[in-house]
Amino acid sequence: MITTPARTRIAPSPTGDPHVGTAYIGLFDYVVARQSGGQFVLRIEDTDRERYSASSADAILAAMRWLGITPDESPEVGGPVGPYIQSERTALYRDYAAQLVADGHAYYCFCTKERLAEMRAHQEEAKESVMYDRHCLCAHTAEERADMVRDGVPHVVRMMMPREGSTGWDDLVRDEVVFENALIDDQVLLKADGFPTYHLANVVDDHLMHITHVIRAEEWISSTPKHLVLYQMFGWTPPRYAHLPLLRNPDRSKISKRFGHTSLHWYQAEGFLPQALLNFLALLGWSHPDETEIFPLEELVEKFTFQRFNKTGPIFDLEKLRWMNGVYIRNLDMATLYPLVEPFLIAAGLLQAEPTPEERAFAQACIALEREKVRTLNEYPALVEFLFDPNFTFEDEAVQKWLRPAPAHVKPAFRALLVRLDALPDADFTPEALEAATRAVAEELGVGAGKVIHPTRVAMSGRTKGPSLFHLMALLGKADVAYRLNRALEIAKEDA
Ligand code: GLU
Repeated sequence: MITTPARTRIAPSPTGDPHVGTAYIGLFDYVVARQSGGQFVLRIEDTDRERYSASSADAILAAMRWLGITPDESPEVGGPVGPYIQSERTALYRDYAAQLVADGHAYYCFCTKERLAEMRAHQEEAKESVMYDRHCLCAHTAEERADMVRDGVPHVVRMMMPREGSTGWDDLVRDEVVFENALIDDQVLLKADGFPTYHLANVVDDHLMHITHVIRAEEWISSTPKHLVLYQMFGWTPPRYAHLPLLRNPDRSKISKRFGHTSLHWYQAEGFLPQALLNFLALLGWSHPDETEIFPLEELVEKFTFQRFNKTGPIFDLEKLRWMNGVYIRNLDMATLYPLVEPFLIAAGLLQAEPTPEERAFAQACIALEREKVRTLNEYPALVEFLFDPNFTFEDEAVQKWLRPAPAHVKPAFRALLVRLDALPDADFTPEALEAATRAVAEELGVGAGKVIHPTRVAMSGRTKGPSLFHLMALLGKADVAYRLNRALEIAKEDA
């Protein structure tokens, strides 16, 4: 439990669709900030100009809003330590890089791409570890290097990693982690285009934004010793680090597009509820102290501790997420659920863009009927389509079983039902009255009720399984039910 106000941050790089890994890390950032009474910051790390996409930054912010893990400070809402977009802070990084050079912690390097490639090839051939050989440090004095910079020779700034000792930290998830300094390359801090690298910008910003807890994916673990050395060089106190396990595909490889669904847009389009997705993500690596599986975000905020994190990469089990989503859908009241489903019905062409109140009421009743099986909202159109369309397509299997050829009692049963339903006043077209009528028909024909119920279901929906038959008949209304019974009779006749 973190009790002093923590400042956490998510620092996505806007290079594509908002990633489910960003939601995963962002969730725990949010939780730690809320639990401790601190703040959750969102910073856009857009210093890799080659991979940058402006729409991606907006999409990330929108995805966080959709998920409901909204940052307290971000490019959207601002905050006291902005700007929160790194490309708007480049002058700052240049100043800090210059300070490191002046203090002897970093140096200008003029090596060309070609020279570096050659150096690498040599090192590989000699089976040495591949790292910068400090050529510029040995070949030129500090004054010469400064002169070359003044003369406009293209250059980068490299960090001077100590060659002795080790750098370690007490990770909140992984406990003690230590790296040998000698194995760490002299990282580029400032690139030739004047933009900082991830390492410099990340450390400068985490410091200036007063971040107390850096929660990030395991893949950044080898960056952390570099960052800790930078903190030392600047004389700053580093934050605490928590490296969360990487999400994995079912074959244990790192979660990837190849497996299909890394984009948060996909989850949104499929009709996953943000609350269900968050609940699912919470249980990837972390476990609830009571082993509970379904719990709201507030409960995670209350119960979360890093100690309950597992170090091994959790499998992203989409089937479990679908199940969980179904549970969340069933727990929503209709007033909340229906507006979430309506866009899916409109997109499928079952409703017009601006439904009338009557259309809406009918659609809502359809949704209410089909709640038991549904797992994602985009399953709804296919489930309820038959209710909107009296000329629905019959399932072959259903037709073969009850209509073609129809068992001897089926056509008489439909006819008897038509007569009985016609006699029912509109106001009595209720599930109870419909059930009574159906059972009376069965009795009249001397067959079990199921023998009438099943073919009638096929007549109404084209399927052998589905929601309560009498409720759906009541919803369709007298004229539509009669139409469907007659249509089924026609089909049964064709074969006779
Ligand atoms: N920009 C990095 C990313 O894309 C941030 C990593 C970190 O949290 O330090 O994930």
